Amino acid sequence: MAPKRTRHSFHDIDPATCTFCGACVSICPIGVLALRNERVYLQGECIDCGLCYRFCPGREMDFDALSTAHLGAPAQDPYLGYYRLLAVGQAVSEQTRDSGASGGVVTALLCHLLEEGRIEGAVAVTMSEAEPWRCQAALLRTQDEVMAAAQSKYSLVGLDAVLAAARKEQGPFAVVGLPCHVHGLRRLQELGSFREKFPVVIGLFCGFNLRAEATDHLINKLGFAKQEVSDLEYRGGNWPGGFVIHTRDGRQAYIPKHRYSYVNLMYVPRRCLACPDLTNELADISVGDTWLDEYAGGWSTVIARSSRGEQMLMEATAHGVIRMNEITRENILRSHGHLIAYKKQGYFVRQRWLRVPLTYRLPKPSIGKGRWLQQSLLLALILILSNSVVRRLVQRLPLAWLARISSWGRQGAKSRIRV
Ligand SMILES: Cc1cc2nc3c(=O)[nH]c(=O)nc-3n(C[C@H](O)[C@H](O)[C@H](O)COP(=O)(O)OP(=O)(O)OC[C@H]3O[C@@H](n4cnc5c(N)ncnc54)[C@H](O)[C@@H]3O)c2cc1C
Ligand code: SF4
Ligand code: SF4
Ligand code: SF4
Repeated sequence: MAPKRTRHSFHDIDPATCTFCGACVSICPIGVLALRNERVYLQGECIDCGLCYRFCPGREMDFDALSTAHLGAPAQDPYLGYYRLLAVGQAVSEQTRDSGASGGVVTALLCHLLEEGRIEGAVAVTMSEAEPWRCQAALLRTQDEVMAAAQSKYSLVGLDAVLAAARKEQGPFAVVGLPCHVHGLRRLQELGSFREKFPVVIGLFCGFNLRAEATDHLINKLGFAKQEVSDLEYRGGNWPGGFVIHTRDGRQAYIPKHRYSYVNLMYVPRRCLACPDLTNELADISVGDTWLDEYAGGWSTVIARSSRGEQMLMEATAHGVIRMNEITRENILRSHGHLIAYKKQGYFVRQRWLRVPLTYRLPKPSIGKGRWLQQSLLLALILILSNSVVRRLVQRLPLAWLARISSWGRQGAKSRIRV
């Protein structure tokens, strides 16, 4: 008779819960896990050590406990988590500001920490040199590398092997990640080695992410094959920027950000639909865009959560690296209300419909029937547009039509969906 298994292993993680964060790959002691084609694979014999199961954040998260452990207090605000400071900020350097997605705050902070010798590098996401249309995790060691990696990469990328490799090197390192990356890292930081090696965690807001196919679709819509691409940006040009490609033979094409957001509905990874965290509630510092008329033109929304994060921001301000203006919670809700509602109310509705077996100890949001219906209809639209046959039909529509639908959709969401 086979011996009774006492530990859970990779086989016990339901793939429907996987956010592709990469934490399991970083922790597997015998390296038999790999991220490929936006899935985690077992590529050898598992020894049932149970580590991947234990730390998998897709499966289980206790936000209050992790917030207390890493930020010093429980989640507190139902929409924003625990915070010490709410602000808008931007890099003082024009070059950094222009390179960044919103105000260039993340890039400015990383360059500053490198210059001061506070970190040896940063784990973040950059474009692949070999395949310039693909995003990849990387350990950035110089200010030039940090500058080259600036801007949002709207593509699902796990931090996996890079985190594991960095863990073996002389640190300390910063980590820049989406909420799901930070969830994984915070769970791994139950282990002292992950806490010491990665003491600085900068989190990006994340409303939607995209499967890699979305990038292929946009390249195609602009009339190119991806092999022709020499350089690609998701937020190129003046803020808020747009999808820009340069080709090897010197041509260039562009779609403004708000006009390609239709891909959010067609290529959203299924697991992202059950994600409750917009503002990266467990990072030391969270950074997002700022959608306020009075701060148009390239400002980042900045949330300091841990005392370490707050101190780093104050120091960077005192050194003239970034400038910041404090703003109110109401202004953050005004700027991000539609996506906070999408995440905080909608994740619950979507998780129920899609039966994603999450063990998240989050309070049940109080939503009336109207909101339930609104979020359910949005889910229905996403599921219809994600269907491969419908997608093929939509792909044939002229870009100008799709762009117009994107702009209407965004305006409608901003005016009708609120927390
Ligand atoms: C997938 C995605 C969805 C987002 N959704 C929202 C949203 O709904 N609302 C909102 O306000 N803001 C959102 N953001 C954040 C926003 O786009 C900016 O990244 C943020 O405002 C920081 O801008 P910055 O100019 O300060 O950073 P920058 O100076 O441009 O630096 C960005 C840093 O983030 C790293 N990075 C880029 N992409 C990734 C990635 N995929 N994973 C990990 N690290 C990465 C880069 O390596 C770079 O170091 C999203 C970002 C991403 C990547
Ligand atoms: S959620 Fe993260 S840790 Fe869990 S299986 Fe997926 S990649 Fe691995
Ligand atoms: S060896 Fe351990 S960490 Fe690796 S896949 Fe198996 S259970 Fe997971
Ligand atoms: S929506 Fe959530 S799960 Fe998806 S990429 Fe963003 S943070 Fe990760």
